[in-house]
Amino acid sequence: MSDIILNKTKEIEYLQFKKLLEFQNDLIHAYTLKNNNVGFKRYEKDNTADISYDKLCNAFNINKELLKYPNQQHTDNICEYNKEKAVNFKEADGIITNLPNIATTLTFSDCLAILLYEPKNKVIANIHSGWKGTVKKIGAKAVNKMINKYDCRPENIICCFGPSIRKDHFLVNDDVKEIFENEFQDIIKKNDVIEETEYRNEKGKQYRIDTVLINKILMKELGLIDENIIDSNLCTVCNSNMFHSRRVEGKNYQANASLMMLKSIN
Ligand SMILES: [Zn+2]
Repeated sequence: MSDIILNKTKEIEYLQFKKLLEFQNDLIHAYTLKNNNVGFKRYEKDNTADISYDKLCNAFNINKELLKYPNQQHTDNICEYNKEKAVNFKEADGIITNLPNIATTLTFSDCLAILLYEPKNKVIANIHSGWKGTVKKIGAKAVNKMINKYDCRPENIICCFGPSIRKDHFLVNDDVKEIFENEFQDIIKKNDVIEETEYRNEKGKQYRIDTVLINKILMKELGLIDENIIDSNLCTVCNSNMFHSRRVEGKNYQANASLMMLKSIN
C-alpha cells in the first residue's frame, strides 16, 4: 500500500498514487472505493452511478459537464483530444489528451486501470485494460501514441496500475491460455506469467495468468523506467470490502471509476 494513499470526503473515498500527487498542481487523479454507496455501471447510467459521478465531481470541484466517458467494450480504441482535433470512437477503452479540463473517466470491475502521465508535455491517458485489452495491448498502444503523436519520451512517462483481479484469482481454461500463448510467446518463455493449477472446472484444467506482469513487461519494452512503473498491488477480489468486483458481486455488479484531468493553467 505504500505507493498509494486513501482519501475520503464526506461523500466518497478514493485512492491516489503518491507519484502522481507530485504533480497535483497540474493533474487531478483518483480511483474510487465503493464505500458510501459509490458505484458505477458500464453499460447504463442508473441513479447510483449518476449520484456517484456527482460525488466524484464534488470531491475535485469539477463541473460534471466536463466528464468524458467512452463506451467501453474491451476494444483497443483510444479517443483523443488535442488542439488540432478530437477523435471519438463509438466504442473505446481509453482517452488521451493534452488539453486541460477534459475530465476523463472510465469504469472497472476486476479489469485493470492504467493511468499514464507525462509531466513534461502534460499528456494524460486513462486506459481500461481487461484481459482482452491486455491481449490487444491497449496500454502499450496508448504509450506509443504518447511517444509518436505527443512528443513524450518514454523515460518521462509515469504508468500507474490500479486495483484489478490479480493472478491468484484470475483462473482460465485452455481456450484463454492459448490466446495469451499466441500473443505473448517471448514474454511467457522468459517470465512466470502462466501457472498451471490443480483446479478443474466443466471446461477442464485451469490456469492462472498474471496480466499485470504482462502489462509491466510491455511498458519496460517501450522504454519506461522501473521507478515510473507503479503498481497499487491490490486485488479487487481479495479486497472486495473496498472495491466493486464482478467476480464477487455477480450479475448486478457495479464498477469503480478512474478519473484523470489536467488542470487549466492560471
Ligand atoms: Zn485476489
